[in-house]
Amino acid sequence: MNDSCIFCGIVRGSAPAFKVYEDDHTLAFMDIFPVTDGHTLVITKEHCADLFAASDIALQGVMATAQRVARALRRVLAPDGLMVFQLNGAAAGQTVYHYHMHLMPRTAGEPLALHTRVPGDPARLRELATALTAAL
Ligand code: AMP
Ligand code: ZN
Repeated sequence: MNDSCIFCGIVRGSAPAFKVYEDDHTLAFMDIFPVTDGHTLVITKEHCADLFAASDIALQGVMATAQRVARALRRVLAPDGLMVFQLNGAAAGQTVYHYHMHLMPRTAGEPLALHTRVPGDPARLRELATALTAAL
């Protein structure tokens, strides 16, 4: 755990999150600045900055959780597509240095973007988290 890391705070429960799923090694929750409706993050419970630092077990857990949440996103939102991505280093666009994977439902024809500065509607994020948890 890293005291100054926002995602460690979410793992500890000292920072709020709209949680979708958790197991021994991973946690999934709604991105609070969703680029698209349903934008979800899957993180390792252990603190590690990026792909280079993550343990095998954490990486395996994140991928398994990503598939599980991806299926729930498909059941709940039936998007045209689903983008899965993970950024390493500022030059790649990484902004939170705690390993995480993005699951971003996509609509055909929508412009591609990795980030937005527009916060999600908390009521919608809560509704999605509840629906996704029920669909796991
Ligand atoms: P990255 O740029 O790949 O490091 O992605 C970090 C993501 O974390 C961005 O999409 C942010 O919107 C998201 N984010 C930052 N802080 C929080 C938070 N407290 N709860 C949920 N998502 C967050
Ligand atoms: Zn952390």
